[in-house]
Amino acid sequence: ENPIRNPTMTTSRSLSFEFFPTRTPEGRAKQILVRQELKQFNPQFFSCTSGAGGSTREGTLQTVRDILNEQTPAAPHLPCIGMLENEIVELLQQYKDIGVNRLIALRGDIPSGTGFGMEGLRYANELVALVKQKFGDHFHTIVAAYPEYHPQSQNAADDLRYFVQKVNAGADSAITQYFFNADAYFNFVDDAQRAGVDIPIIPGIIPVDSFTKLVRFSDMCGAEIPRWLRLKLYSYADDAESIRAFALDVVTHMCERLLQGGAPGLHFYTLNRADLSAEICKRIYGAPAK
Ligand code: FAD
Repeated sequence: ENPIRNPTMTTSRSLSFEFFPTRTPEGRAKQILVRQELKQFNPQFFSCTSGAGGSTREGTLQTVRDILNEQTPAAPHLPCIGMLENEIVELLQQYKDIGVNRLIALRGDIPSGTGFGMEGLRYANELVALVKQKFGDHFHTIVAAYPEYHPQSQNAADDLRYFVQKVNAGADSAITQYFFNADAYFNFVDDAQRAGVDIPIIPGIIPVDSFTKLVRFSDMCGAEIPRWLRLKLYSYADDAESIRAFALDVVTHMCERLLQGGAPGLHFYTLNRADLSAEICKRIYGAPAK
């Protein structure tokens, strides 16, 4: 049997879905339904993003509580930039107290025009070290990886070196920025393994159905939209149905290639929607048992 079609056969393969905090009670209620739908695929956890400098602290905490109430493990994202060490430890303790045992440890991005980053932790490796120093192995600590390299990186070797430093600080697994080039992922994993990294590096997947949104996100995070994909999406103009169908095919095919090539799981950037991620999961893993 094809192990990709049956995720339970490969217990080490993970599946997770990412959300961002909502701003209204209606948004929150809708998000609970979205997670209900995605839960059918048996994810290992749901994660929730957090704005650097604690800007969405309450929203992230509320989402994490909701996820735990739904009996699913929750992984808050924790960008450390702009936070003092004692604030971080306090937040970690709060997470531990409500039952969180995994998190995504990040530097975050310094909001322009602010004084953030002048004090406190500077890079994600320092956060990982702090988490391990204060909480031992309590938190499964996930870090970010960039198969197409971090937008601020001037060269690949340095970026890899800093990634290895983050892993050596105690990271338990990594999730990548999204990409549309499976070879970039395989190449990055090979390089990391050659440099001694043996933690799972899980590809981050973005299901899309809007060309303009995709361009906006990708410009922000440095992910490359290949020319063929850009031109093809562009050629559909306002034909939303065709964009959706094409994008689902492209992303599903890439997920299958990643899993067949040994990727240890998939992490979906859901953008708080169930439909696209669910459709891709159905195609890859089969429809969930009712
Ligand atoms: P780091 O690993 O610290 O690296 C940042 C940059 O500094 C890189 O260019 C690296 O090469 C360089 N660097 C690292 N260490 C050193 C060193 N010792 N000396 C010099 N240079 C160094 N952002 C949010 O604000 N909130 C979120 O919820 C969020 N979730 C994310 C989830 C995932 C899966 C991913 C992939 C990214 C997420 N981000 C989030 C974005 C992330 O915060 C940004 O990409 C940020 O710019 C880098 O964070 P990092 O943890 O990768 O940083």
